[in-house]
Amino acid sequence: MSFSAFDLIPPLQQALHELGYRQPTAIQQQALPAILAGRDLLAAAATGSGKTAAFALPLLQRLAGQHERAALILVPTRELAEQVATACQAYARHLDLACVAVYGGVPLAEQIETLSQGCDLLVATPGRLLDLLDNEILDLAAIDHVVLDEADRLLALGFARELATIAGLLPAHCQRLLFSATFPPAIRRLAGEWLRQPSEITATPANRPAPKIKQWAVPVDKKRKPGLLLFMLRDRNWRQALIFVNSRKGADELVAYLRSKELAADALHGDRDQETRRQVLAAFRERRIDLLVATDVAARGLDIEDLPLVVNFDLPLAAEDYIHRIGRSGRAGASGTAVSLVCADEAPQLAAIERLLQRRLSREEEPGFEPRHEVPQAAPAPAGKAAKAAKSATGHGRPANAGKKPPRPGSTSRAKTSPQARAGGQGAARASGGARARGR
Ligand code: AMP
Repeated sequence: MSFSAFDLIPPLQQALHELGYRQPTAIQQQALPAILAGRDLLAAAATGSGKTAAFALPLLQRLAGQHERAALILVPTRELAEQVATACQAYARHLDLACVAVYGGVPLAEQIETLSQGCDLLVATPGRLLDLLDNEILDLAAIDHVVLDEADRLLALGFARELATIAGLLPAHCQRLLFSATFPPAIRRLAGEWLRQPSEITATPANRPAPKIKQWAVPVDKKRKPGLLLFMLRDRNWRQALIFVNSRKGADELVAYLRSKELAADALHGDRDQETRRQVLAAFRERRIDLLVATDVAARGLDIEDLPLVVNFDLPLAAEDYIHRIGRSGRAGASGTAVSLVCADEAPQLAAIERLLQRRLSREEEPGFEPRHEVPQAAPAPAGKAAKAAKSATGHGRPANAGKKPPRPGSTSRAKTSPQARAGGQGAARASGGARARGR
């Protein structure tokens, strides 16, 4: 199937051609017709599946038409806001539509200035959107389409109240789309509140990571994790990796350790200001640093081309974050590798991850780093085929490939400014009596 099957307007077809998109991904094949038809949508899409284009292309097509005004995309993190806006700008490069990102951590004034030049597609984190509404910089009356992107993460980060406030300010006719990698019950409830008779699509089975990621766990004592990581990086000649830790302090300490071994590493976490985070991310993308040590702030949405390896230096506290973390590798069909260093204390987290995956992660000790404190094998009651196969192959619940060397990785109108606002130069969706947020 090619993109020509969707009747996309020539400026979008041209942009896709220039970006080298030849064929729509599975989520794009399903989402494009539903969104173009104006339906609400509930979509399960693994990270890296091409979901940004799946909602951005049809929305841009509709915004390019005569009657539509503006679209709002709500995202959980600043980095994702920038990334989604950048992708939308690339898709809209031949259209006269402005795509703008707004998020916290940068002065409001800068964003107000950008918005004053007009905005058709607004990508926003919920907190900053409410700040702009409180300050009467925006109103939502002109929003014709709203997307909740990475809805599970929005809820996990505690944005439920903000989302409820925003929902109350959106026009009733607004088309609503909800994308989520995982579908815990809270997401089903949110979908019930936001969506009206939605089309439901699933690009990869819910709660499963993208299939091409090779994953395994390495049992190790906690204090030996830094040494093990260094050993594995060198032994396997791993050059580029995104390494997840659970605390800001842990990130800084690991970076200091890696640098002391002359490796090019830097940290990405919430204690660093927005500009530094942007610079660190750019340095990692451009390969000026090889190792990025991040807390979960970086777990979502980062799209780094051909990222071969994700390391869980600490296992995430919420099992669903495991899927988001490892989804940074193996994007857009590329193969990836995810390795988790697991100490005895983390056995309950490992069990929770295995329950979510419905299979056991294979365990592979590194010679010289065998743990003195055994990581207990929890009974996650796995239901999937893989778990059954693992059990029957070994007779005692050890994974089928235990003992084998694990694989190496390959290498608001113009926002849509109302015509009056544009003509009068008053700025983006300057409030004109529409609904307002009255605080959070
Ligand atoms: P996303 O899941 O939206 O973050 O997209 C993941 C990556 O896939 C990004 O680098 C996109 O540029 C890329 N991508 C999305 N759709 C396609 C496509 N149809 N063909 C090739 N690459 C794509």
